[in-house]
Amino acid sequence: MIERRTMDEMLHMDVCGGEARIMLCETTHLVQEARNIHEATPVCAAAMGRIMTGTLMLGVMMKGERESVTVTFAGNGPMGKVVAVAEQGNVRVCADEAQLQMPAREDGKLDVGGAIGHEGRLTVVKDLGLKEPYVGQCPLVSGEVAMDFAQYFTVSEQQPSLVSLGVLTQGATILKAGGLLIQPLPGCSEETLSQLELRSPMFAEISREMMAAPKEELAEDWFRGMDLRLLSRTPLAYHCTCSRERMERALLAIGRKDLEEIIADDQGAELGCHFCRKTYFFTTDELRSLLASAQ
Ligand SMILES: [Zn+2]
Repeated sequence: MIERRTMDEMLHMDVCGGEARIMLCETTHLVQEARNIHEATPVCAAAMGRIMTGTLMLGVMMKGERESVTVTFAGNGPMGKVVAVAEQGNVRVCADEAQLQMPAREDGKLDVGGAIGHEGRLTVVKDLGLKEPYVGQCPLVSGEVAMDFAQYFTVSEQQPSLVSLGVLTQGATILKAGGLLIQPLPGCSEETLSQLELRSPMFAEISREMMAAPKEELAEDWFRGMDLRLLSRTPLAYHCTCSRERMERALLAIGRKDLEEIIADDQGAELGCHFCRKTYFFTTDELRSLLASAQ
Protein backbone atom coordinates (compact mmCIF):
# COMPACT_ATOMS: atom_id res chain seq x y z
CA MET A 1 0.00 0.00 0.00
CA ILE A 2 1.28 3.46 -0.88
CA GLU A 3 1.73 5.79 2.09
CA ARG A 4 -1.01 8.44 2.27
CA ARG A 5 0.06 12.09 2.34
CA THR A 6 -2.15 15.17 2.13
CA MET A 7 0.39 17.75 0.94
CA ASP A 8 0.70 19.16 -2.59
CA GLU A 9 2.90 16.70 -4.43
CA MET A 10 3.40 14.75 -7.64
CA LEU A 11 3.43 10.98 -7.58
CA HIS A 12 5.45 9.36 -10.36
CA MET A 13 4.20 5.87 -10.98
CA ASP A 14 4.10 3.21 -13.64
CA VAL A 15 1.95 0.20 -14.44
CA CYS A 16 2.51 -3.19 -16.07
CA GLY A 17 6.26 -3.19 -15.55
CA GLY A 18 6.78 0.20 -17.14
CA GLU A 19 4.43 -0.09 -20.13
CA ALA A 20 2.82 3.21 -19.17
CA ARG A 21 3.89 6.06 -16.95
CA ILE A 22 1.49 7.81 -14.62
CA MET A 23 1.75 11.17 -12.90
CA LEU A 24 -0.86 11.96 -10.29
CA CYS A 25 -0.76 15.14 -8.27
CA GLU A 26 -2.61 17.21 -5.75
CA THR A 27 -2.28 21.00 -6.16
CA THR A 28 -4.98 22.28 -3.77
CA HIS A 29 -2.75 24.51 -1.64
CA LEU A 30 -0.82 26.11 -4.46
CA VAL A 31 -4.00 26.83 -6.41
CA GLN A 32 -5.42 28.43 -3.27
CA GLU A 33 -2.31 30.58 -3.05
CA ALA A 34 -2.65 31.64 -6.70
CA ARG A 35 -6.31 32.47 -6.07
CA ASN A 36 -5.39 34.63 -3.10
CA ILE A 37 -2.53 36.45 -4.83
CA HIS A 38 -4.62 37.29 -7.90
CA GLU A 39 -7.92 37.64 -6.01
CA ALA A 40 -9.26 35.42 -8.74
CA THR A 41 -12.91 34.63 -9.31
CA PRO A 42 -13.82 30.92 -9.16
CA VAL A 43 -13.78 30.46 -12.94
CA CYS A 44 -10.37 32.17 -13.26
CA ALA A 45 -8.97 30.26 -10.27
CA ALA A 46 -10.11 27.04 -11.94
CA ALA A 47 -8.52 28.04 -15.26
CA MET A 48 -5.24 29.05 -13.62
CA GLY A 49 -5.29 25.96 -11.42
CA ARG A 50 -5.74 23.57 -14.32
CA ILE A 51 -3.01 25.32 -16.30
CA MET A 52 -0.58 25.33 -13.34
CA THR A 53 -1.23 21.63 -12.72
CA GLY A 54 -0.56 20.73 -16.37
CA THR A 55 2.53 22.93 -16.40
CA LEU A 56 3.85 21.19 -13.27
CA MET A 57 3.62 17.86 -15.09
CA LEU A 58 5.91 19.26 -17.76
CA GLY A 59 8.12 20.88 -15.11
CA VAL A 60 8.78 17.79 -13.03
CA MET A 61 9.59 15.78 -16.19
CA MET A 62 12.55 18.07 -16.80
CA LYS A 63 15.68 16.86 -15.12
CA GLY A 64 18.07 19.82 -14.85
CA GLU A 65 18.24 22.09 -11.83
CA ARG A 66 17.98 25.32 -13.82
CA GLU A 67 15.54 24.12 -16.46
CA SER A 68 12.15 25.75 -16.68
CA VAL A 69 9.00 25.47 -18.74
CA THR A 70 6.63 28.29 -19.64
CA VAL A 71 3.13 27.47 -20.83
CA THR A 72 0.98 30.17 -22.43
CA PHE A 73 -2.70 29.79 -23.17
CA ALA A 74 -3.60 32.54 -25.62
CA GLY A 75 -7.28 32.00 -26.31
CA ASN A 76 -9.95 34.26 -27.75
CA GLY A 77 -11.89 34.40 -24.48
CA PRO A 78 -12.31 37.38 -22.12
CA MET A 79 -9.69 36.11 -19.65
CA GLY A 80 -6.94 36.93 -22.15
CA LYS A 81 -3.55 35.30 -21.87
CA VAL A 82 -2.70 32.94 -19.01
CA VAL A 83 0.98 32.19 -18.40
CA ALA A 84 2.35 29.54 -16.03
CA VAL A 85 6.03 28.86 -15.36
CA ALA A 86 7.34 25.74 -13.64
CA GLU A 87 10.80 24.89 -12.40
CA GLN A 88 10.57 21.31 -11.29
CA GLY A 89 7.96 21.38 -8.51
CA ASN A 90 7.74 25.17 -8.23
CA VAL A 91 5.12 27.01 -10.22
CA ARG A 92 3.79 30.54 -10.69
CA VAL A 93 0.99 31.96 -12.79
CA CYS A 94 -0.45 35.21 -14.13
CA ALA A 95 -3.43 36.14 -16.29
CA ASP A 96 -4.54 39.25 -18.18
CA GLU A 97 -7.92 39.13 -16.39
CA ALA A 98 -8.03 37.08 -13.21
CA GLN A 99 -11.13 38.75 -11.77
CA LEU A 100 -13.43 38.04 -14.65
CA GLN A 101 -17.04 37.08 -13.85
CA MET A 102 -18.55 34.41 -16.09
CA PRO A 103 -21.99 32.83 -15.92
CA ALA A 104 -21.85 29.10 -15.18
CA ARG A 105 -22.34 26.62 -18.01
CA GLU A 106 -25.74 25.01 -18.60
CA ASP A 107 -24.63 21.95 -16.63
CA GLY A 108 -23.79 24.18 -13.64
CA LYS A 109 -20.00 23.85 -14.04
CA LEU A 110 -17.50 26.71 -14.18
CA ASP A 111 -17.12 27.87 -17.78
CA VAL A 112 -13.33 27.59 -18.04
CA GLY A 113 -13.47 27.08 -21.81
CA GLY A 114 -15.57 30.21 -22.17
CA ALA A 115 -13.17 32.27 -20.06
CA ILE A 116 -10.05 31.11 -21.92
CA GLY A 117 -11.77 30.85 -25.30
CA HIS A 118 -12.39 27.84 -27.48
CA GLU A 119 -9.94 28.98 -30.13
CA GLY A 120 -6.39 30.16 -29.86
CA ARG A 121 -2.92 28.83 -29.25
CA LEU A 122 -1.07 26.85 -26.63
CA THR A 123 2.66 27.53 -26.52
CA VAL A 124 5.21 25.58 -24.52
CA VAL A 125 8.72 27.00 -24.14
CA LYS A 126 11.28 24.76 -22.47
CA ASP A 127 14.42 26.50 -21.33
CA LEU A 128 16.99 23.75 -21.02
CA GLY A 129 19.86 26.11 -20.24
CA LEU A 130 21.02 25.89 -23.86
CA LYS A 131 21.28 28.79 -26.29
CA GLU A 132 17.96 28.12 -27.97
CA PRO A 133 14.89 27.13 -25.97
CA TYR A 134 12.62 24.37 -27.26
CA VAL A 135 9.32 25.84 -28.50
CA GLY A 136 6.22 23.75 -29.15
CA GLN A 137 2.88 25.10 -30.30
CA CYS A 138 -0.54 23.79 -31.13
CA PRO A 139 -4.02 25.22 -31.60
CA LEU A 140 -6.41 25.02 -28.66
CA VAL A 141 -8.90 22.17 -28.92
CA SER A 142 -11.48 23.38 -26.41
CA GLY A 143 -9.94 25.87 -23.96
CA GLU A 144 -10.96 23.48 -21.16
CA VAL A 145 -7.20 22.91 -20.63
CA ALA A 146 -6.92 19.12 -20.08
CA MET A 147 -7.80 18.32 -23.70
CA ASP A 148 -5.46 21.06 -24.84
CA PHE A 149 -2.53 19.60 -22.90
CA ALA A 150 -3.37 16.11 -24.24
CA GLN A 151 -3.33 17.51 -27.78
CA TYR A 152 0.01 19.23 -27.13
CA PHE A 153 1.64 16.02 -25.87
CA THR A 154 0.22 13.96 -28.70
CA VAL A 155 0.92 16.35 -31.58
CA SER A 156 3.96 18.39 -30.53
CA GLU A 157 5.81 15.76 -28.51
CA GLN A 158 4.47 12.72 -30.41
CA GLN A 159 3.55 11.21 -27.07
CA PRO A 160 -0.06 10.00 -26.88
CA SER A 161 -1.41 11.10 -23.52
CA LEU A 162 -4.49 11.01 -21.40
CA VAL A 163 -4.84 14.12 -19.25
CA SER A 164 -7.33 14.91 -16.51
CA LEU A 165 -7.22 18.21 -14.62
CA GLY A 166 -9.67 19.52 -12.05
CA VAL A 167 -10.25 22.36 -9.63
CA LEU A 168 -13.21 22.29 -7.28
CA THR A 169 -14.12 25.64 -5.74
CA GLN A 170 -16.56 26.97 -3.19
CA GLY A 171 -16.55 30.75 -3.26
CA ALA A 172 -12.99 31.86 -2.57
CA THR A 173 -11.98 28.43 -1.25
CA ILE A 174 -10.25 25.81 -3.34
CA LEU A 175 -11.72 22.57 -2.04
CA LYS A 176 -9.52 20.32 -4.16
CA ALA A 177 -7.25 20.60 -7.17
CA GLY A 178 -5.22 17.99 -8.95
CA GLY A 179 -4.36 16.19 -12.12
CA LEU A 180 -3.53 12.90 -13.76
CA LEU A 181 -1.36 12.18 -16.79
CA ILE A 182 -1.12 8.74 -18.39
CA GLN A 183 1.42 8.10 -21.13
CA PRO A 184 1.88 4.71 -22.76
CA LEU A 185 5.60 4.15 -23.36
CA PRO A 186 7.27 2.41 -26.33
CA GLY A 187 6.40 -1.29 -26.26
CA CYS A 188 3.09 -0.77 -24.48
CA SER A 189 0.83 -3.70 -25.31
CA GLU A 190 -2.65 -3.41 -26.80
CA GLU A 191 -3.97 -5.13 -23.70
CA THR A 192 -2.53 -2.43 -21.39
CA LEU A 193 -3.76 0.35 -23.68
CA SER A 194 -7.32 -0.95 -23.73
CA GLN A 195 -7.25 -1.46 -19.95
CA LEU A 196 -6.25 2.18 -19.47
CA GLU A 197 -8.90 3.42 -21.89
CA LEU A 198 -11.52 1.27 -20.22
CA ARG A 199 -10.76 2.87 -16.87
CA SER A 200 -10.61 6.49 -18.07
CA PRO A 201 -14.20 7.37 -17.03
CA MET A 202 -13.11 6.71 -13.42
CA PHE A 203 -10.76 9.69 -13.39
CA ALA A 204 -12.70 12.09 -15.60
CA GLU A 205 -13.74 14.27 -12.66
CA ILE A 206 -10.53 14.17 -10.76
CA SER A 207 -11.05 16.95 -8.19
CA ARG A 208 -14.38 15.39 -7.13
CA GLU A 209 -12.74 11.99 -6.83
CA MET A 210 -9.99 13.52 -4.70
CA MET A 211 -12.59 14.98 -2.34
CA ALA A 212 -13.77 11.45 -1.60
CA ALA A 213 -10.44 9.66 -1.08
CA PRO A 214 -6.67 10.30 -0.83
CA LYS A 215 -4.89 10.30 -4.18
CA GLU A 216 -2.86 7.21 -3.26
CA GLU A 217 -6.04 5.25 -2.58
CA LEU A 218 -7.54 6.47 -5.86
CA ALA A 219 -4.46 5.34 -7.79
CA GLU A 220 -4.58 1.89 -6.19
CA ASP A 221 -8.25 1.69 -7.06
CA TRP A 222 -8.01 2.95 -10.63
CA PHE A 223 -5.05 0.77 -11.58
CA ARG A 224 -5.96 -2.33 -9.58
CA GLY A 225 -4.53 -5.48 -11.12
CA MET A 226 -2.08 -3.52 -13.29
CA ASP A 227 0.98 -3.84 -11.06
CA LEU A 228 1.03 -0.18 -9.99
CA ARG A 229 4.43 0.99 -8.73
CA LEU A 230 5.29 4.26 -6.99
CA LEU A 231 8.65 5.48 -8.36
CA SER A 232 9.07 8.83 -6.61
CA ARG A 233 7.29 11.82 -5.08
CA THR A 234 8.00 15.50 -5.76
CA PRO A 235 6.69 18.24 -3.44
CA LEU A 236 4.85 21.03 -5.28
CA ALA A 237 4.55 24.70 -4.31
CA TYR A 238 3.66 28.16 -5.56
CA HIS A 239 6.93 30.02 -5.80
CA CYS A 240 7.89 33.28 -7.46
CA THR A 241 11.46 33.99 -8.48
CA CYS A 242 11.27 37.77 -8.72
CA SER A 243 13.84 39.92 -6.94
CA ARG A 244 15.11 43.49 -6.85
CA GLU A 245 18.01 42.46 -9.12
CA ARG A 246 15.60 41.09 -11.72
CA MET A 247 13.60 44.32 -11.60
CA GLU A 248 16.82 46.30 -12.08
CA ARG A 249 17.53 44.27 -15.20
CA ALA A 250 13.98 44.93 -16.41
CA LEU A 251 14.50 48.66 -15.90
CA LEU A 252 17.74 48.60 -17.86
CA ALA A 253 16.02 46.64 -20.60
CA ILE A 254 13.64 49.52 -21.36
CA GLY A 255 16.62 51.42 -22.75
CA ARG A 256 18.78 54.35 -21.78
CA LYS A 257 16.57 57.06 -23.29
CA ASP A 258 13.38 55.97 -21.48
CA LEU A 259 15.25 55.53 -18.23
CA GLU A 260 16.64 59.06 -18.51
CA GLU A 261 13.10 60.35 -19.00
CA ILE A 262 11.94 58.61 -15.82
CA ILE A 263 14.88 60.14 -13.95
CA ALA A 264 14.02 63.60 -15.34
CA ASP A 265 10.41 63.19 -14.11
CA ASP A 266 11.84 62.70 -10.60
CA GLN A 267 8.95 60.51 -9.41
CA GLY A 268 10.95 57.34 -9.05
CA ALA A 269 9.71 54.11 -10.60
CA GLU A 270 7.42 51.42 -9.28
CA LEU A 271 7.55 47.97 -10.83
CA GLY A 272 5.10 45.19 -10.06
CA CYS A 273 5.60 41.46 -10.48
CA HIS A 274 2.82 39.86 -12.50
CA PHE A 275 3.21 36.51 -10.77
CA CYS A 276 3.16 37.44 -7.07
CA ARG A 277 1.94 41.07 -7.30
CA LYS A 278 4.79 42.30 -5.14
CA THR A 279 5.89 45.87 -5.95
CA TYR A 280 9.41 47.25 -6.06
CA PHE A 281 10.08 50.98 -5.75
CA PHE A 282 13.18 52.74 -7.07
CA THR A 283 13.99 56.34 -6.09
CA THR A 284 15.40 58.78 -8.62
CA ASP A 285 18.81 58.46 -6.97
CA GLU A 286 18.69 54.69 -7.23
CA LEU A 287 17.70 54.95 -10.88
CA ARG A 288 20.64 57.33 -11.51
CA SER A 289 23.17 54.97 -9.99
CA LEU A 290 21.59 52.03 -11.80
CA LEU A 291 22.05 53.86 -15.10
CA ALA A 292 25.59 54.83 -14.17
CA SER A 293 26.48 51.25 -13.23
CA ALA A 294 25.27 50.00 -16.61
CA GLN A 295 27.71 52.19 -18.53
ZN1 LIG B 1 7.11 37.86 -8.04
